[in-house]
Amino acid sequence: MLNNLNITEFLKDTIIPPICSVCGKICAEFLCQNCNSRIKFLDETVCQYCGRLITSKNNPGIKICTLCKNETYSFYRLRSFSLYKEPIVNLIQKFKYKKYYFLSKILAGFLKKAYEKHFNSERIDYIDTVPNYAADRQCSKYCKSHMQILAEDLSKIIRIPFLNNIIKIRNTSKQQKLDYYLRKINLNDAFKVRNCLLSHEKNLLLIDDVWTTGSTLNEISSILKKAKANKIYLLTLARGA
Ligand SMILES: [Zn+2]
Ligand SMILES: [Zn+2]
Repeated sequence: MLNNLNITEFLKDTIIPPICSVCGKICAEFLCQNCNSRIKFLDETVCQYCGRLITSKNNPGIKICTLCKNETYSFYRLRSFSLYKEPIVNLIQKFKYKKYYFLSKILAGFLKKAYEKHFNSERIDYIDTVPNYAADRQCSKYCKSHMQILAEDLSKIIRIPFLNNIIKIRNTSKQQKLDYYLRKINLNDAFKVRNCLLSHEKNLLLIDDVWTTGSTLNEISSILKKAKANKIYLLTLARGA
């Protein structure tokens, strides 16, 4: 009986059947099985701190990469679901730039898988993410950043609250266009913790789409540490390095 059907679902599945966001084939979700199977979960041995793939076959016991031997971070651990390769690049770009927010649940499922492998036994009090400047200035639900939408979906499926306790207080230039030194200056005082009492001595899971140079996530981790957060676990969908 038509009147017993959810009309939205009816319209969605008959008039506009979902197509795979990567290859355009009609499929049950927005990612077909073929494209999904090409997205490889980063399941190999990674550096215990930064999550970088450890490729040294001659030293299978090594758990810390060469960079982390000399580096100290504000965050406690970093892990990623996948390497930054096609087709996850395509999905992330459509989610982020074309605002294909219907991909959020699929991407949240990827983060859940990585969370369960790496952080399931950790005590994590809340989830947070990287805010947009514009998204914070206009507070309707339609101008959330893509990461705030993803954080909400992840929060529902791993049952850890999303606090949205970080605010971006000024605009910044695109990090990719700047050298190492300018990237650091670009982010100076760009983020603030809204309510330091909420992060005080808490462990949190800070999520982002891609780990590239890490400047933004490092900067946010450092202001969270100044706000007396305890352990900061970083989780990204993909990593470029
Ligand atoms: Zn496909
Ligand atoms: Zn490392």
